[in-house]
Amino acid sequence: MSASPEVSVVIPIYNEEEALPHLFTAMDAFISSFERSCEIVTVDDGSKDRSMDLLRQAVQTRPWLVVARLRANRGQTAAMAAGLELARGSIVVFMDADLQNDPNDIPRLVAKLDEGYDLASGWRRQRKDRAFTRKFPSWIANRLIGRFIGVRVHDYGCTLKAYRASVIKPLHLYSDMHRFLPALCSSAGARITEVEVRHHPRTHGNSKYGLNRVLKVMCDMLVIKLIVAFADRPMHYFGPFSVAFLMVGGSAITLHLVNIAAGWREQSIVLPALSVLALVSCIYFLFMGLLAELIVRVGRRDARALTRGAAEATC
Ligand code: UDP
Ligand code: MG
Repeated sequence: MSASPEVSVVIPIYNEEEALPHLFTAMDAFISSFERSCEIVTVDDGSKDRSMDLLRQAVQTRPWLVVARLRANRGQTAAMAAGLELARGSIVVFMDADLQNDPNDIPRLVAKLDEGYDLASGWRRQRKDRAFTRKFPSWIANRLIGRFIGVRVHDYGCTLKAYRASVIKPLHLYSDMHRFLPALCSSAGARITEVEVRHHPRTHGNSKYGLNRVLKVMCDMLVIKLIVAFADRPMHYFGPFSVAFLMVGGSAITLHLVNIAAGWREQSIVLPALSVLALVSCIYFLFMGLLAELIVRVGRRDARALTRGAAEATC
């Protein structure tokens, strides 16, 4: 096997037969002008069209091209994770296959890592997508994610970003989490910067996403918040709920006993019912916390990855 390249560009591909010939032309030009050693790792995400055939053909004449294939369509994040595993460079750049991202922006992203940053996040300031169904939801999502998770990046959804391999490789990517990579990297101690990148309209093939991605992003945001804030100490998350319910239940039962002691004849069911409900909820959250602690101990992969990333990122 040849020496490891400096940069690995990872491209997830799903049903992109119209775009691929243009992608190959663009990558040929990019590789011949890029001053660093570079490999392009393409991952076919179980395409049902001729994408895999085109990739097989292309790899015959391009020594810098790596082609991998997932047997079934597992989603963009899974394809990116598979490419990440194969990537040998010390810098990993992700890019879409449809040339909405411009490979000519890669050198500027990579240069930011030379300055000491661990993640250079592409920002499609002049985004060329539909305003109502794409730009507007994404504008809201970027603000929500930034506020909720605390890592403010203008364009979470832009795939074109460059990462130090030692920071991104330990992360466990699943679901649709490629959109949250800056947040995950930041909690691993990464230094993040943003770079404005070009964006082109999709001229070949169709987008693989519709408006239903908004709901998925919201669900993933909750999970990421949990991972970022509480992955290694879930009891800190569930514990306060348990204590709050204990206090409500305790107060309700005390009040009820005081009422009895004071000799009130008309005893309402409200206070006993509230105390039972609150105490059951208290026990529920307590056990949820304990269970989560156990789960984290057993499957500490995420938490360990974050800590290890932090150690390396701050060297
Ligand atoms: N993609 C993938 N698996 C999927 C959906 C998309 O590998 O299940 C790839 C797709 O081929 C493209 C990238 O992910 O290279 C981004 O997809 P798309 O351009 O449709 O997203 P958009 O630009 O519309 O957000
Ligand atoms: Mg696209």
